[in-house]
Amino acid sequence: MSYLHLKVPPTRDERLKPCNAYGGSMCNLAKGQKTGCLSANGRTFAQATGCQLTLSMAMAASIPNTVVIYHGPVGCGAGSLGLAGQSKLSQLARGNNDAVGRVWMSTNLSESDVVNGSEAKLEAAILEAERRFRPHAIFIGNTCVPAIIGDDIDNVTQKVQPLVNARIIPLHCEGFKTRFVATAYDIVYHGILRYLLNEDPDREPLLKDEAADIAYEQKRKRTVNLLNVGSMGYVDEVELTRLLNAIGLEVNVYPCFTSPEKFVRVKDAALSVSICATHDDYFVEHLKEHYGVPYVLNTIPIGTDNVRLWLLDIADFFGIREQALRVIELEEAELRKALEPLLPLFKGKKAFVSTGEIRAGAQACMLENDLGMTVVGIRAHHYDQFGEIVFDNFKDRDDVTINVAANQPFEQVNLFRKLKPDLFLGHGNSNVWAARQGVPVLPIYGPNNSYLGYKGIFEVASRLERILENPEYYKTLGDTAESPYQEAWYDQDAYAYIKQTQQVA
Ligand code: SF4
Repeated sequence: MSYLHLKVPPTRDERLKPCNAYGGSMCNLAKGQKTGCLSANGRTFAQATGCQLTLSMAMAASIPNTVVIYHGPVGCGAGSLGLAGQSKLSQLARGNNDAVGRVWMSTNLSESDVVNGSEAKLEAAILEAERRFRPHAIFIGNTCVPAIIGDDIDNVTQKVQPLVNARIIPLHCEGFKTRFVATAYDIVYHGILRYLLNEDPDREPLLKDEAADIAYEQKRKRTVNLLNVGSMGYVDEVELTRLLNAIGLEVNVYPCFTSPEKFVRVKDAALSVSICATHDDYFVEHLKEHYGVPYVLNTIPIGTDNVRLWLLDIADFFGIREQALRVIELEEAELRKALEPLLPLFKGKKAFVSTGEIRAGAQACMLENDLGMTVVGIRAHHYDQFGEIVFDNFKDRDDVTINVAANQPFEQVNLFRKLKPDLFLGHGNSNVWAARQGVPVLPIYGPNNSYLGYKGIFEVASRLERILENPEYYKTLGDTAESPYQEAWYDQDAYAYIKQTQQVA
């Protein structure tokens, strides 16, 4: 699937034909995904979703020694303000004592720039970034306005590159271009592949024999790329590194929080190890095609079933399955012992999970199979071919509602009124809506908390125990917070506005 010769990579909408609007059983979701008809679904009423610019720039700005420039009106950067301190803390945790956190600028486009063009402003911003910060790389995030008026940021990059030492990386991450925020991962990886890894952006994919020779040579080194696009905190990196070390592998983590000058080493690894296909499929496929680095991509190591699958996939590649099975056996035995006193509290509790597709499926599986809860609903931001393995647990379950929705709190509150979950694991805004309905919440991701590997299972269980032991805060909120929706909405089908809104391709 090589797209590296393109200045602008395809969107997820074009490349994977995912679905972003669905409500019903897993069985019908899987069937619809296979026929491709669900990608034509939409909503006749929808609330705001995210913009891929924010995610692209969050990922780019986590890379030390870089400047990110928002090329657009100043408001486009507003979504990034909340991340200001996080990047510095994350870099400090990884031993970068010189961490300065996110360094970002905006070209602050005005109405007259919209009329007269804004390339000169971008040029000036790049030169200013170089003069003030002397970074290793400058990422330019293109927003809707310059894309609509026809600014050519690639041309500006070419013109200014000889004048600065930093590598300039244009990112075409305009919010209006895609219904799927996950396109942001492809956009940033595309920039890294074209401008940080590759001296020649027009490099052709390797021939089959060349790729096989390189793969054989690198396999002996037993070093893997562990990919983190920012959704894995440092504690999780430590846990996964511990497990990979235990089966005899060396680990380098990319791309977030790793200095760009180290990126060239990505090509020397024996294997790329993804923790989520939604994040990494674009990157690992290109690394394989252009540099002969194979990959594993099947699942995320959340819950014993998926940790086992993840570790065995990696071990099988190196021919060390027996060694991995010994580690798994020991770890699982220890975990079972540690979880035992907590299980009576969880038995039969109704849980609802909402997050990205891969994490949602695996987390739901963990709640049922490791903790003995009953999952009543799963919301995924989108659904595509990569969801099949982690959602396998639910394929014959008519008692679990599957909602594919990015945000859309009106659907969530309606489902909660009907399903009455005892517990919610979700992201950002959706947590607020659950809490307002009196449902105890565990954030499904936090940079300082542990979620992955065996340690993650125990830590999540311990935090859930604390929340369930004392849910008073949520109870009070549920009793006092007013619903902004009319009662008539709760009587309707939660999925009433999901319709086929486009022609099936
Ligand atoms: S959708 Fe466009 S205008 Fe809105 S924040 Fe994103 S890039 Fe800026």
